Amino acid sequence: MSNGWVLPDELLRDAPAYTPRPYELADLELLLSGAYAPLSGFMGRADLASVARRGRLADATPWPVPVTLQVPAEVVGGIDLNNPMERRLILTDPEGAPTALLEATDVWPTQQRWYGVGGPVRRIGDGGRGPFQRLRRPPAEIRALLPPGRVLGVIADRPLHRPQLAQIAHAVRTLAAHLLILIPVAENSRDGLPPEALVRSIFGARDRMPPATIVAVPMARRGDEIWDALLRARVARAYGVTHVLSTTELVTGGGLRMLVPRELAYDNRDGQWRWQEDIPPRNRRQALAQEEIDDLLDRGFPLPEWHTPPAVARELSRARPPRRHRGLVVFFTGLSGSGKSTIARGLADALRESGDRTVTLLDGDVVRRELSAGLGFSKADRDTNVRRIGWVAAEVARHRGLAICCPIAPYARARAAAREMAQAAGAGFVLIHVATPLSVCEQRDRKGLYARARAGQLTGMTGIDDPYEEPTDADLVLDTSDVTVEECVRTVLAHLTEHGWVEPRLQPV
Ligand code: ADP
Repeated sequence: MSNGWVLPDELLRDAPAYTPRPYELADLELLLSGAYAPLSGFMGRADLASVARRGRLADATPWPVPVTLQVPAEVVGGIDLNNPMERRLILTDPEGAPTALLEATDVWPTQQRWYGVGGPVRRIGDGGRGPFQRLRRPPAEIRALLPPGRVLGVIADRPLHRPQLAQIAHAVRTLAAHLLILIPVAENSRDGLPPEALVRSIFGARDRMPPATIVAVPMARRGDEIWDALLRARVARAYGVTHVLSTTELVTGGGLRMLVPRELAYDNRDGQWRWQEDIPPRNRRQALAQEEIDDLLDRGFPLPEWHTPPAVARELSRARPPRRHRGLVVFFTGLSGSGKSTIARGLADALRESGDRTVTLLDGDVVRRELSAGLGFSKADRDTNVRRIGWVAAEVARHRGLAICCPIAPYARARAAAREMAQAAGAGFVLIHVATPLSVCEQRDRKGLYARARAGQLTGMTGIDDPYEEPTDADLVLDTSDVTVEECVRTVLAHLTEHGWVEPRLQPV
């Protein structure tokens, strides 16, 4: 896959390097592969203004949405637009390996200390990496493979169940088209499915669809459905698609015809999928909603065969195992002395006794000694501490372990980041607010910290001279003022059991 460019070392030596954010790296791959043709680089201000005003690039090519790169001020400091030798910026992947060379033609301030950088990009290094690299073929290569005539493009951003497969088969027949499946692989799907699992699930459905060409495309969502659809249609066209199959009613730009299929329904008289209006209402069986599919998987029930081919179901239950086998982060937050460690230890003991789960206890003090030695109690250091705990916990949970964390975690942003990391690892996250009032915590004063803070010998004490942002997203709230430790542990276990995270027999007697 080397349409790459090998640059003499001396040309690269002094150029600043920068790792763009994940969605920018996805755009970069599409620019480099030709999927965004005729665009060959990140847009400058002229193109951006023109796209915003009239949906066209400055040279009048129709183009639906901005494709931009933003970098922090310190990176821009190394760029001099007036000097051809100092216009270059090396773009690297998250591991720091050079991916592309950007020749900056425009630099402008955007938000505080961040700058937009526009200019053409060229591939350097030895091409991309990542799972299913062999499916990430550039548009020119795919176009050369396609038979002449119509090409039906399906953006498979979700697994294909029987209703969708029936739609695809019908559309292929109606149009007499060749089928091209484009699988977005830049990020987890909207339903939280990792790209590799999505690819495997699509291949699981392959023998249930007409002969198809399948490609993986690093398309990321922009959080705006219309923009996403327009840009996807644009990319599909670069791959040679003449018709796009979509389940939403959207207008496309760029001269593509969008096929809007009517709804399909299952006729249980003869086990066939039919267009809804063709069968009487009483016998309709709709496609399952995503929540229903998730619920079946969470509880470990098989997806019904009438809805999902077994090979697809198998991939989905591997990617989203039942909750009792899935990784979980149990995150306690609360003031010092509220009871986090004590309850967490009781919970860890109960779970270890049962032996169903491997447990990692990431306790505040132990973490401060092992993982976060050297960090203090400033806002930045506290955030770093919580972030490290959240990162390790998510890795534990990625491998289906159960991580219990009990930092004070006074800031909502840091707690939210921990939740996101767990979810991105395909794990669950349960936030438990130990909401014991300050007066009780201070009275307990196990470590004498409150006394020292009151005496002015300790600053930055949460609850005294540092804020605690009360969670609004706690899954469970405990006030330990008048309850025993055992009762608190039992409440937590009951919550985990009720939501399917642990086996029911774990309830202590
Ligand atoms: P944190 O980890 O939140 O700083 P600790 O668990 O270290 O708090 O300390 C909590 C103190 O409160 C312990 O001395 C514990 O024995 C006492 N305590 C009293 N009742 C409870 C309860 N129901 N749950 C947890 N701790 C309790």
